[in-house]
Amino acid sequence: MDCLFCKIANHEIPSTTVYEDDQVIAFQDIDPKAPFHVLVVPKKHISSVLEVEDMDKDLMYHIVTVIQKIAKESGIDQSGFRVVVNTGEDGGQSVQHLHFHVLGKRLLNWPPG
Ligand code: AMP
Ligand code: ZN
Repeated sequence: MDCLFCKIANHEIPSTTVYEDDQVIAFQDIDPKAPFHVLVVPKKHISSVLEVEDMDKDLMYHIVTVIQKIAKESGIDQSGFRVVVNTGEDGGQSVQHLHFHVLGKRLLNWPPG
């Protein structure tokens, strides 16, 4: 499948990986929008949050635990952070493989642009 994040998950394209296991890879965003900007990506190809199925519920919980781990290791659990899942055209999704942006180490504006 011609999917950027599948290729990163398969190590066909390099990334600055901060966490990896058999189900998930997390790596630095190539164009960071905050001093801390990591993408947490299931290795399974799921095109968006709209495609998550009942069988993925353990995977979704696992992703949350990975986000917790990354947050604690980087210190943003103390300062605060944001998890973003852009979806579809109006949501600004540019890669059609589910990914969780984890942003921190600056004050994040609300509402987002
Ligand atoms: P989205 O626009 O929500 O679909 O997020 C896609 C993200 O992937 C953007 O923040 C991009 O900067 C990021 N991105 C694109 N290509 C790469 C890459 N090769 N390595 C790391 N991050 C990437
Ligand atoms: Zn994919």
